[in-house]
Amino acid sequence: MSKSRYASNWKEIATAVKESVGWCCQKCGRVCLKPGEKTQSWTLSERRAYTLQVHHWNFNPEDNRLENLAPLCSSCHLHYHRFGRGNISPGQLSLELTIKN
Ligand SMILES: [Zn+2]
Ligand SMILES: [Zn+2]
Repeated sequence: MSKSRYASNWKEIATAVKESVGWCCQKCGRVCLKPGEKTQSWTLSERRAYTLQVHHWNFNPEDNRLENLAPLCSSCHLHYHRFGRGNISPGQLSLELTIKN
């Protein structure tokens, strides 16, 4: 039994959303790393900063309608969770942040 509220095909959904916007953050426009892009000379924090994540506007990870999804770079994403509605549990955020491409 999985505790995850994410759809089993969430990874595919997230990748499709990111591809549809050309791997750009929808808030600051930062172009993020595509899967498999070479970053040998990058530090971990640089790579993390350029990782595109998919945010749920209504903070409901079960709601995967396209209008509820927003590709955001990690710092913009964190901003929404820190200063957004604030009703999200830290556990849920870390789950979302650990989703890799
Ligand atoms: Zn951003
Ligand atoms: Zn989010």
